[in-house]
Amino acid sequence: MLPTKGETNVNLNYTEIMVRYGELSTKGKNRRSFIMRLAENVKGALSAHPEITVKADRDRMHLYLNGAEAAPIIEKLPKVFGIQNFSPSIRVEKDLDVIIAAVQDVMKKIYTGSETFKITAKRSDHDFIQNSDELNQTLGAAVFRAIPGIKAQMKKPDINLRVEIRANGAYLSYETIQGAGGLPVGTSGRGMLMLSGGIDSPVAGYLAMKRGVEIEAVHFASPPYTSEQALQKAKDLTTKLTPYVGQIQFIEVPFTEIQEEIKRSVPQGYWMTLTRRFMLRITDEIRQLRRGLVIINGESLGQVASQTLQSMVAINEVTATPIIRPVVTMDKLEIIDIAQAIDTFQLAIQPFEDCCTIFAPPQPKTRPNLEKVHYYEARLDVEGMIARAVAGIKIEAISPVSENADTAAEFADLL
Ligand code: ATP
Ligand code: MG
Repeated sequence: MLPTKGETNVNLNYTEIMVRYGELSTKGKNRRSFIMRLAENVKGALSAHPEITVKADRDRMHLYLNGAEAAPIIEKLPKVFGIQNFSPSIRVEKDLDVIIAAVQDVMKKIYTGSETFKITAKRSDHDFIQNSDELNQTLGAAVFRAIPGIKAQMKKPDINLRVEIRANGAYLSYETIQGAGGLPVGTSGRGMLMLSGGIDSPVAGYLAMKRGVEIEAVHFASPPYTSEQALQKAKDLTTKLTPYVGQIQFIEVPFTEIQEEIKRSVPQGYWMTLTRRFMLRITDEIRQLRRGLVIINGESLGQVASQTLQSMVAINEVTATPIIRPVVTMDKLEIIDIAQAIDTFQLAIQPFEDCCTIFAPPQPKTRPNLEKVHYYEARLDVEGMIARAVAGIKIEAISPVSENADTAAEFADLL
């Protein structure tokens, strides 16, 4: 059988990968910056392969392998948003005899005995001695000579071998591998992802990235009530989101004081609402420091007490910053499907408690009363508590290459 997505024909000496852009082609004069950003993101995703060079044209991007193996690249590219599809290609000299030999060689390697084929030649270099139609004839005949009995088929052939004559050589390709679609991460600006250790928020982060948002992960930790493992789990989930972009900043917020204070001063029915309001205010402060535009969270309507519409109103009251909730209308099973596809599900269901679980009141209000919320908050030093939490954040860059990301806190980067 022909190789399917992800498992390419290793016998072929691919020299480059030709990348076709997705939706960005509709973006008018922003197109150039979109393409530049995509090129950066591709380089980030392929940082483990420094020998590869990237050349981004108006219509396509070329990744020159320079001797690198194609297979690992073919595995990584489908995670880069903004790519419609891509074709591993072989470049040969622009000489008819050389092209004929290469076509015969490729066909012999991929033909397993029953596939139909077609040649689709394209002459971008109009000085070449044969035009597209002539090339189709010549190369088709060459395939019949090399593989007696093979059948040609013009409509939906099993193998469509594309041959493109360009200024710097002839390019052969037969695979078109589906890309991730979406927009290049970063082209929509930056957002702060409120990342717990659960199933929903990593999915929310993934979906925001798919539409071009560059995310930074904000995680609230309440040691010693929350464990080192819970923190590590949030970092590991962040690592799972890095292949889509290259690197993600992980921001840990010390939340113990706030949770203790709320527990001490507020009736339990309102712990949850007040806790969430603090989380949102702090995330918003961090957003300003980090020059983000929006906040992203994993709220899903009606899932738990904090996610009723009334709760959302009470929590959302503390900020006018837009909050993107990519999974808000999804059923849990739909969210789990995505979590499995992006490989965050198994990690997310590990049983390390996060700060919300530990301080979860037995009966949180599902319809919090805003007057009471204000009344209870007046008992607290809201500004001081927020300022102390923000002063204590730790920022760490998490990248896909090292599973154990560099743990050096980068405070210097912050202000
Ligand atoms: P998740 O699966 O993402 O944990 P959930 O269904 O458990 O979501 P909640 O615990 O109510 O829902 O949290 C709702 C949202 O609040 C989360 O999706 C996340 O965006 C944010 N959140 C909750 N806990 C934390 C935390 N410890 N740090 C950062 N954000 C959090
Ligand atoms: Mg949760």
